[in-house]
Amino acid sequence: MGRIIAIDGPSGAGKSTISKLLSERLGYIYIDTGAMYRTAALLALEAGIDLSNGDRVAQLCKSLAFSFRIEGDTVHVTCNGRDVTEAIRTHEMGMHASNVSKNPQVREVLVGLQRKLGGQHDAILEGRDIGTVVFPQATFKFYLDASMEERARRRYRELTEKGEGASLEEVKEAIRKRDINDSTRKTAPLKPAEDAIIIDTTGKDISTVMEEILQHIRKRDSR
Ligand code: C5P
Repeated sequence: MGRIIAIDGPSGAGKSTISKLLSERLGYIYIDTGAMYRTAALLALEAGIDLSNGDRVAQLCKSLAFSFRIEGDTVHVTCNGRDVTEAIRTHEMGMHASNVSKNPQVREVLVGLQRKLGGQHDAILEGRDIGTVVFPQATFKFYLDASMEERARRRYRELTEKGEGASLEEVKEAIRKRDINDSTRKTAPLKPAEDAIIIDTTGKDISTVMEEILQHIRKRDSR
């Protein structure tokens, strides 16, 4: 197995931006596990499957093959040959993904895929449970967090740039709900691994956070 860098934390903490930059900088492959839950929700909805039906959603997940490609600022997500990048990045699909991800059967299948994808290369995995469940033996575990206000503002900016009409209040409310959903579920709740390095990104720009992370990596590597 190669080296694994786990980047966990709630939505809007800066995980995606940092993971993409780290992947480019270090030459590790990038696996966006949130995109996998989003895609499972999208395809289940399209197939008319009730999202609370864990058996059927898990069955569907068994037939999925994912690939990720970074191009500029965008991570292109392909599932079974279809580019789902745009379709999964909506406000609603985030909420649907959070509902789908509560289900232990669904998680079992997707965690299996994540281990297979990440186990073959040096890899950066971004998610909620990478350091706690998917790769508890990861080489580096980072847990990114930020204040609710700042996370909502970042998400709002992203959605507005894409032309989505949600208001800041709606985005904040959705993030609050997702935080509760993700951190109170029984299977693999959102929480930092005991040995994770916690980084508060509130008020910090990307280059400051990147430097902080790279310093931790360099420090460990020079021992
Ligand atoms: O990170 P992103 O916003 O794309 O994740 C969407 C949802 O997928 C999260 O709110 C969470 O419920 C779920 N998720 C998860 N475990 C992961 C990654 C995402 O439960 N490793």
